Amino acid sequence: MTVLSWSKIYGHKNQKEYFQNIITQGKLHHAYLFSGPPGVGKETFAFEVAKALNCLNLTPQGACDHCQSCRSIMGFTHPDILLLKPDGGSLKISQVRDFIRQLSWARVTGNFRLGIITDIHLLTEEAANCLLKTIEEPPLHSVLLLTTSQLHQVLPTIISRCQPFHFSQLKKEEVVQFLENVQGLSKEEALVIAEEAQGSIGQAITLVKEGGKAREQALYLWQCLNKGQSVLKLGKWLSSNQGYFSEIILFLERYLRDVLIWKLGGSETQRVIFFPHLLKFIKEDSARLKQETCRKLIVLLEDLMDSWSRNLNLDIAFISFWFKAREEIENGD
Ligand SMILES: [Zn+2]
Repeated sequence: MTVLSWSKIYGHKNQKEYFQNIITQGKLHHAYLFSGPPGVGKETFAFEVAKALNCLNLTPQGACDHCQSCRSIMGFTHPDILLLKPDGGSLKISQVRDFIRQLSWARVTGNFRLGIITDIHLLTEEAANCLLKTIEEPPLHSVLLLTTSQLHQVLPTIISRCQPFHFSQLKKEEVVQFLENVQGLSKEEALVIAEEAQGSIGQAITLVKEGGKAREQALYLWQCLNKGQSVLKLGKWLSSNQGYFSEIILFLERYLRDVLIWKLGGSETQRVIFFPHLLKFIKEDSARLKQETCRKLIVLLEDLMDSWSRNLNLDIAFISFWFKAREEIENGD
């Protein structure tokens, strides 16, 4: 079954219903203002509206995401979709003039010309004055979608000319669903990240990316440790990964817990392991390492984390960890 585009928007149920209805009925307002905290999907939503207005195979559930129009909007190449973002901390009059001029051109391929302006609170006063008339009366077949995370800083003359929509933070379950369905995380991983992301999908995506770097480096470290690489060769690695160090150690600790859990319960435990996507490696390591070795390595990682959080000399703590861990692995293989 094809997933249609409205169902790819997480949260914001009322806004989706509103736009589904008015697009089907063809009763559009000429300018909308989307406000709400950063990272909740205001810009993504504006692009969904643009897709739905121009899709060649539109259904009540949204745009098809496959037609020429949808694909070019997703690739930011659709000639009828204009996007204006601040340049160097403000939306300047020269940018706004260009934008208005382009918006007035005839439609190229679409049903509508869409002008999307982000961070509308960053309009300079003269740029705002220049935009007012266009917001009030945009060219025929064009719609303006404005977004802001700082509604209190948007000029009242702009607000009063738009139909406002507030986008709230997402519910935790909605962020979890997004992380599971779109980012391919396990339920357990998704819950941890959703807790930290506090209702912002943008923040959740950043956390996943940072987690990805920590994961990559943790697995690299684990490989070096198992190969018996000299710790002296890791000096540069250590200094370039200091910013992620606690995430790396935490990842490795959780990984070794998975190895231990698998060793204790085998496939019965698949539901509770932290990193089901690393099962292949978890199985290999659990076949290779003794139970006692896994336990001792986890304790050593906890000690290392403790030294790190107490601001002890990281180099010394790391070298000491390395020699002890090597000894455990050599004895426990
Ligand atoms: Zn389409």
